[in-house]
Amino acid sequence: MSDKQTQTQLAVIGSGPGGYAAAFLAADLGMDVTLIDTAPNPGGVCLYRGCIPSKALLHVAKLLSEAKEAKNWGISFSEPKIDLPRLREWKNSVVAQLTGGLGRLSKQRKVNFIRGKATFNDSQSLKINTVAGAAQKLIFQQAVLATGSHPVTLPGVPVDSPLVMDSSAALALETLPKSMLVVGGGYIGLELGTVYASLGTKVTVVEMLPGLLPGADRDLIAVLAKKLNSAFTEIMLETTVKNIRVKKNGVSVQFQTGNGTELKKDYEKVLIAVGRKPNSANLGLENTKVQTDEKWFVKVDAQRRTGDPAIFAIGDVAGEPMLAHKAAHEGRTAVEVIAGGKSVFEPRAIPAVVFTDPELAWCGLTESEAKKQKREVSVTRFPWAASGRAATLGRSDGLTKIIFDSQTERVLGVGIVGPGAGELISEAVLAVEMAAVAKDLELTIHPHPTLSETVMESAAMLFGTGTHIYRPKRKR
Ligand code: NAD
Repeated sequence: MSDKQTQTQLAVIGSGPGGYAAAFLAADLGMDVTLIDTAPNPGGVCLYRGCIPSKALLHVAKLLSEAKEAKNWGISFSEPKIDLPRLREWKNSVVAQLTGGLGRLSKQRKVNFIRGKATFNDSQSLKINTVAGAAQKLIFQQAVLATGSHPVTLPGVPVDSPLVMDSSAALALETLPKSMLVVGGGYIGLELGTVYASLGTKVTVVEMLPGLLPGADRDLIAVLAKKLNSAFTEIMLETTVKNIRVKKNGVSVQFQTGNGTELKKDYEKVLIAVGRKPNSANLGLENTKVQTDEKWFVKVDAQRRTGDPAIFAIGDVAGEPMLAHKAAHEGRTAVEVIAGGKSVFEPRAIPAVVFTDPELAWCGLTESEAKKQKREVSVTRFPWAASGRAATLGRSDGLTKIIFDSQTERVLGVGIVGPGAGELISEAVLAVEMAAVAKDLELTIHPHPTLSETVMESAAMLFGTGTHIYRPKRKR
């Protein structure tokens, strides 16, 4: 019997934040859309086993750490009791609520959601092996590839042991190990390390580079590292993992430090968080004109067109940074182009947020990038010790820095470390996108008392006129 054959105007392969944003916009613009994914509802890695479950658990981590801090303000709680099955259930209920909501939004928009795995037969059709076990052919006019990425594994490290976890396994929160090694001091390592440490696990982080989170400015990292140094048992920098051996009740890890010393330590579990790779294999791309680069990212132009005129690619599969919000905007750009618009994906700033305690967020040009580019910039730093709101939260350790063009005083980049940095950065993204200058931020009335005032005061510091800080700089 031949496969069932259907047609669609737009096929979107992968229903993460990029894919579903593209599919929903296309449906809103009147297109006939088919969205394909193996999961029961749209959401992708972000909702099922990434951003959302990790943020639910990081909220719990924040609560536990604030409860501890409260003794400094005369409030004492007894030691928290962790009911792991109940915590897991709550985290899963958040995921179910949001993915279910996306399923309903998809139905309301009459998006045809097919549960299955799609591969390209050619530039006009897909073969879909459905989760139900059937195969079907889908003929499309245009396709958007939004298949995301998967965790990188380390050569020689066993992946089939429950003691060696990737981010998905760590988020499943099956057990709370007494000790855990996190390999990789990037986004995932630090966020999930924070979750486990707050729940009582002794967490060690090993990072091969000389510092954590290589993309961010070091003065911001210093604030975060100070706090992480007390939350984690150990942070080993410039150290690589040579070997991981799974034993009966734990793992034995061999390290090599920057000066060549070899060390051996034992942990109950290991989390590998050394980056992600694009999901561009096994899609039948060889049957189309889509091309990939040396890192397996699909090559795209500014409109997110691939080498194949009928196929667009967005999100993690189409290049760095691998961030949900970048994927969603690329998806909307691709759909606008498909609808006949002249849109291009040319952001001046894509915000990066690490949801640790304190949060770290930055956008636009960093100070270290400015140095590398030999660009003449002026940098202001407003310490949160001078923020009234930060004092009321007992969190005076934050910092808000702004990178300005020295000549035009235009805002080129902003970095913030402190609680709520992930929310505060949006104002900075708008400033960079709208080509705001220092005066725009200084003269915009910010509500008092809020942490957002640190952005206004940091801008005023360019003129040496921040109200809550005395740093005379230059005459108006
Ligand atoms: P990452 O690139 O953020 O960090 C990986 C780290 O591992 C790097 O610092 C790297 O130097 C280090 N490393 C690589 N190989 C190593 C080795 N052999 N030994 C020790 N250290 C090693 O990657 P990630 O944390 O796996 O996250 C993957 C991607 O997911 C990120 O790039 C990010 O785009 C995305 N993400 C974003 C968020 C967020 O937006 N808050 C959260 C989680 C993940």
